[in-house]
Amino acid sequence: MSELTRLTLAEARDGLASKKFSAVELNEAFIDAVARAKTLNAYIVETPEKALERARASDERIAKGEARPLEGVPLGVKDLYATEGVQTTAASHILEGFVPPYESTVTANLWRDGATMLGKLNLDEFAMGSSNETSYFGPVISPWRRKNSDAKIVPGGSSGGSAAAVAARLCLGATATDTGGSIRQPAAFTGTVGIKPTYGRCSRWGIVAFASSLDQAGPIARNVRDAAILLRSMAGHDPKDTTSVDAPVPDYEKAVGASVKGKVIGIPKEYRLDGMSAEITALWERGVNWLRAGGAEIREISLPHTKHALPAYYIVAPAEASSNLARYDGVRYGLRRTGKDIVDLYELTRAEGFGKEVRRRIMIGTYVLSAGYYDAYYLRAQKIRTLIKRDFDLAYAAGVDAILTPATPSPAFALGEKGAADPVEMYLNDVFTVTVNMAGLPGLVVPAGLSSDGLPLGLQLIGRPFEEETLFALGEAIEQAAPKIALPEPWWV
Ligand code: GLN
Repeated sequence: MSELTRLTLAEARDGLASKKFSAVELNEAFIDAVARAKTLNAYIVETPEKALERARASDERIAKGEARPLEGVPLGVKDLYATEGVQTTAASHILEGFVPPYESTVTANLWRDGATMLGKLNLDEFAMGSSNETSYFGPVISPWRRKNSDAKIVPGGSSGGSAAAVAARLCLGATATDTGGSIRQPAAFTGTVGIKPTYGRCSRWGIVAFASSLDQAGPIARNVRDAAILLRSMAGHDPKDTTSVDAPVPDYEKAVGASVKGKVIGIPKEYRLDGMSAEITALWERGVNWLRAGGAEIREISLPHTKHALPAYYIVAPAEASSNLARYDGVRYGLRRTGKDIVDLYELTRAEGFGKEVRRRIMIGTYVLSAGYYDAYYLRAQKIRTLIKRDFDLAYAAGVDAILTPATPSPAFALGEKGAADPVEMYLNDVFTVTVNMAGLPGLVVPAGLSSDGLPLGLQLIGRPFEEETLFALGEAIEQAAPKIALPEPWWV
């Protein structure tokens, strides 16, 4: 493995600026690593020529002293982001072969700042899943393995390709999206850092929609600083997305290393689940102690509607998905199967084009929105959503700056181990993350330790709306205090 791929994004940026190596050399090192990591199935499409073309342009700019914030930095892009001239599938058969004639706003922002693209990263189909096993292009394999075992482990989902690629050093950072936990849960499973920003912080334009009132773009990165650097470029107002917020984007990197003294950290008692594993409880306790040692004030809080978040999410998200996915009809994009008439065309295309989990969500969503059940399910779920948001509002009004919770109820599991007989078993992965999407808040996950079988575990920090800087400061404090987690050495080449 080239030493260049071991650098963090910040180190690579600084190395390029001081001409220790060229953007072409850096990009070549990653292109080679990606080409040798097929076993992990992290990328659906590789774009080495594109990366090199941009890297050459970056070297020219660096030579002229005109480097932009991400000049020459190679990234991976979750295949949910439309990329002009490069196939974009949402990991679904129904979009196979779709080449968008436009670029998503978030990726356009990254290219504006000089980043290069290594390719499109695998994910759960339409971002529905927690293990990256629902992709039409096959599961992503985590670079992590349990101690003394070569069982294949999931990288989490839905941004499993993004998390695996960052952890396996197949890019310096990656774009991801989070509707119910899809940035934070895979980050926790792979020992990487992920942030779901406040709803409206990043534009959703050009990102394949799953549940529009919950979806948010964000980065997965090697460490807190790298995540802060990436978010600064990704975020910002976009007139093409009416839900994006017109507020200045802070220089998030400045918040990394800021003191956490005097910050009030809420510890929600409802996140202490019955039967939660002792190692997750212990990890959480250690997180509390690290922040206390940094000068933060720890306060027990109550978020009483937490227990309703998961059931309400699994009504709201499928409802929105069923309507968003109505556009895949065999007429406009990708796959088309024809029959005797137009109804046949819709039915044949959708039956073949969508995988099992996506079909399940469309059926649930259609049911909860139907005239007879709308009030009983959808309307009630929306009311619960309001109550969940109010729980957080009250905590913040009482002076809490951020909330610390575990990221996931367990470490990563093996392929095929969960959800085969009962999909709810898979849905339970999101128990600590969905509340944050329901309330539109920012959430950061940072690696904090290893499980007894040697897999990464993460802690989650939940912030006030648009106060991502507080999360970066607190996240860095945890990162500094936690034992260093060495990323796995490549067994997959
Ligand atoms: N795992 C959750 C789901 O399957 C969340 C997915 C996401 O955040 N995109 O819906």
